[in-house]
Amino acid sequence: MSALDLVRTELRQLRGYSSARMEASGGRVLLNANESPWPGIADPDGTLQRYPDAQQPADLVAGLADLYGVPAANVLVARGSDECIDLLTRATCRAGVDAVLVSPPTFAMYAVCAGIQGASVLNVPLDPARDFAPDFRRLREVALAETVKLVYVCTPNNPTGGIAPAEPVLALARELAGRALVVVDEAYAEFADAPSLAPRAAQPGNLVVLRTLSKAHALAGARVGALVADAGLVALLRRLLAPYPIAVPCARAALAALAPDALAATRLRVAAIRAERTRLAGAFARLPGVRAVFPSAANFLTARLDAASATYAALLAAGIVVRDVGGYPGLEDCLRFTIGTPGENDALLGVLARRERVA
Ligand SMILES: *Cc1c(COP(=O)(O)O)cnc(C)c1O
Repeated sequence: MSALDLVRTELRQLRGYSSARMEASGGRVLLNANESPWPGIADPDGTLQRYPDAQQPADLVAGLADLYGVPAANVLVARGSDECIDLLTRATCRAGVDAVLVSPPTFAMYAVCAGIQGASVLNVPLDPARDFAPDFRRLREVALAETVKLVYVCTPNNPTGGIAPAEPVLALARELAGRALVVVDEAYAEFADAPSLAPRAAQPGNLVVLRTLSKAHALAGARVGALVADAGLVALLRRLLAPYPIAVPCARAALAALAPDALAATRLRVAAIRAERTRLAGAFARLPGVRAVFPSAANFLTARLDAASATYAALLAAGIVVRDVGGYPGLEDCLRFTIGTPGENDALLGVLARRERVA
């Protein structure tokens, strides 16, 4: 059984679009792709005049492969991990037949993509009594009983911040081999101590890891994410992806972020976010209106408050926007606070402390 056996039958033979630039690159006079012979008025250097050479920018794939410690053949680069989630759903789920399995409260895109594809969503809630840890025994039971194609494990989990230990994730993948892909969303891995499962996902099998440059690498607007998986699955997903998914300026920004100096600077910033996370968690715990602060390995803290809506409104009135996550099951009265700069965090704490004095 290979990961490709989990792909919709009709897609396995799909050849995908073959563009002019992909069929023949090089040459001096380029008259094969119906591009403009002149640079654009808004692009005098001609940076954007031509289609890229390859569907996947080879230097960016190689850079991401280095960053995640895996071979390039195991890396798919797409417009954010959001697009990777969409691709996986379309590739594996038959409308009206298959399902995805999620552990709420978790990232909403898994269910959104399933809904668009006509796949159903099965839930095995995180355990609020154990810091919102996944229930691996139940995940396995449900996945084996139903036509589940994708099992999502978000670690650190958004919006609760907790980590899923590696061993049960790997065991789950082994138990579901040939039946479902286990998709580990590591959007916040840089902020955690736990090692990435990307090297494991690069081996043949049904484990998939999602990474992104949107969070720790500060490139949310560039929309660059990556999927690490079995090389055969990566090759198939490339054929489902748009002809040139990564715009030239976005590929450039991403490559610049992968230069050694940039990576060193990013590591310092991640350390600063982690230090601020510790400071904020301590300060929150001392505020009487805060009932609980969930342990977080990500760049945010989620807390349960006595008066979440009023606190949200007071922060908004002070120009500080946080996320009201009270609509997630089990997170009633909870707000999620992204860790900002030390100055931004001081401003946040200032408003929270003032509210306590008034109350
Ligand atoms: C932010 C986030 C993403 C989306 O990342 P993009 O690469 O920007 O699409 C994926 N998964 C989780 C859990 C997130 O919180």
